[in-house]
Amino acid sequence: MSVKAEYIWIDGTEPTAQLRSKTRILDSAEKAKLENLPIWGFDGSSTNQAEGTSSDCQLKPVFVCPDPVRGGTSVLVLCEVLNVDGTPHSTNTRALLSPIDEKFAAQESWFGIEQEYTLFKDGRPLGFPEGGFPGPQGPYYCGIGAEKAFGRPIVEEHLDACLAAGLQISGINAEVMPGQWEFQIGPAGPLEVSDHIWIARYLMALIAEKHGVVFSIDSKPMKGDWNGAGAHTNFSTKAMREGYDPIITACEALGEKFLEHVKAYGAGIEDRLTGAHETAPWSEFSYGVSNRAASIRLPWQVEIERKGYLEDRRPNANMDPYLVTRMITDTCCTALEK
Ligand code: ADP
Ligand code: MN
Ligand code: MN
Ligand code: MN
Ligand code: MN
Repeated sequence: MSVKAEYIWIDGTEPTAQLRSKTRILDSAEKAKLENLPIWGFDGSSTNQAEGTSSDCQLKPVFVCPDPVRGGTSVLVLCEVLNVDGTPHSTNTRALLSPIDEKFAAQESWFGIEQEYTLFKDGRPLGFPEGGFPGPQGPYYCGIGAEKAFGRPIVEEHLDACLAAGLQISGINAEVMPGQWEFQIGPAGPLEVSDHIWIARYLMALIAEKHGVVFSIDSKPMKGDWNGAGAHTNFSTKAMREGYDPIITACEALGEKFLEHVKAYGAGIEDRLTGAHETAPWSEFSYGVSNRAASIRLPWQVEIERKGYLEDRRPNANMDPYLVTRMITDTCCTALEK
């Protein structure tokens, strides 16, 4: 029986990589298992990943799940991009995360990523009238009703799709700007949370496409007094889940490397981390309990219970989760190892 396998990969578009995908028909469900899925190829000169004269790149399947959009036996196949000699392509940030994930496995890092995004139609966010603006921010965050929530049928369809795909989705909510929403993936290890973020992004792009709507992870889609879109990254290790001192150690370590981190947290970060709209300025580092104007927030329960996790509020919606989880795992786990 034929099986539709959608091979999905991350391209070389700058400054923000985009998803690409194409379909391969397999002749049995057995072939659709991760260990049996064939390596495939594509034209890297059309994805900013190769020169036209030696354009071949390889697709190596690394994560498979049911395809909830096509249904039946169809599968989604997330791939790493390799050069023809089998080495990781320079755009393959997943290959750089794997060794860090393994190196610090004993510390049991968990991530919960809050992916914010904006739905667009006719070049403007849902809820923005033609030639004008909606009322100021205030009523839209977690808002209910047709005058406050824009795009819910798409958001609900996406939630169902993520659940059917077996992704570690933990919640959704309407955001501060009209047409802006959030889904959360986690808690899960660095590789798993990142793979699931990319598949969840894929599903949202595809479902929105079906509705004639554009899924955007632009981190500052509207200039002016409108919130940007972030990807707050919640992080803990086993030690942090059991005690408070390791949480402070992790915050201090993030402070020592703050510029290196900010540079890896997504394109246009200085346009979003201005110090306004629930952000801390990109050029300063701070951490604090319940403080949504700090770089790192410790949830209030964490201070009371003296254990838990930290929230790095800086990553942009357009960040690469392989890069962000690698930096945080490396910085914090190195400090906690001492
Ligand atoms: P916020 O209050 O900032 O909007 P959310 O509820 O949107 O927070 O997201 C919190 C995320 O943190 C969820 O994805 C959740 O799974 C994750 N999370 C909860 N506990 C931990 C933990 N110990 N380590 C890492 N992530 C966690
Ligand atoms: Mn062709
Ligand atoms: Mn949230
Ligand atoms: Mn949010
Ligand atoms: Mn948050």
